[in-house]
Amino acid sequence: MLRRLNIAGAILSAVICITLCATWARLLPIRDGIPLRGPFADWRLMSLNGRIGFDDRPGRNRIIDAWRQEGSERIAEWRRKISRTVELYSAWEASRSPEALSAYDAAEAAQKDMSDVITAFADRDPRWKPLATHTLPIYPLIIATSLWPGGMFFLFVRRRMMLRRRRRAGCCLHCGYDLRATPAGDSFLSRCPECGRVSAGSVAGL
Ligand SMILES: [Zn+2]
Repeated sequence: MLRRLNIAGAILSAVICITLCATWARLLPIRDGIPLRGPFADWRLMSLNGRIGFDDRPGRNRIIDAWRQEGSERIAEWRRKISRTVELYSAWEASRSPEALSAYDAAEAAQKDMSDVITAFADRDPRWKPLATHTLPIYPLIIATSLWPGGMFFLFVRRRMMLRRRRRAGCCLHCGYDLRATPAGDSFLSRCPECGRVSAGSVAGL
């Protein structure tokens, strides 16, 4: 059970390590990163100067686009109001009637309100919103995730080498006791005198 957990953990750790390496390598030549669209925010996965992480550039770009759209609508509306004011001023000049004057005054007041709205709108320009960036240095992450599988691989190779050495030297595969004087075969006598287990060629998988 513990052995299985150990192997599963090492495999998971190796997968994370390889994914980190691959993601980092993939992001190196890409200036814009990989977009990650979520229900609450737009992020992009990016790597920069040996660091890997997220920033909210796509979300920020979307805010700016919306702001530009709204801004151009407001400016168009403001221009319509200015031309209406100019029109009413000409009408008042032609007629000099009190009705024409009050119509002009009202149009001018609406136009001034509109300019206030545009000023307020420019004050909350999202282009000044700072770009949120969250990164972690990549090399320590790669090293940290490679330790477990790397250690397991080292122990595995060391064990294989030890077993090969024992087999070649004619020693017990379990305890390393010299079996050159022990008779070969499958009888009771061919068991290791040191640990009592069947050894040498009869132990499969070791
Ligand atoms: Zn033995």
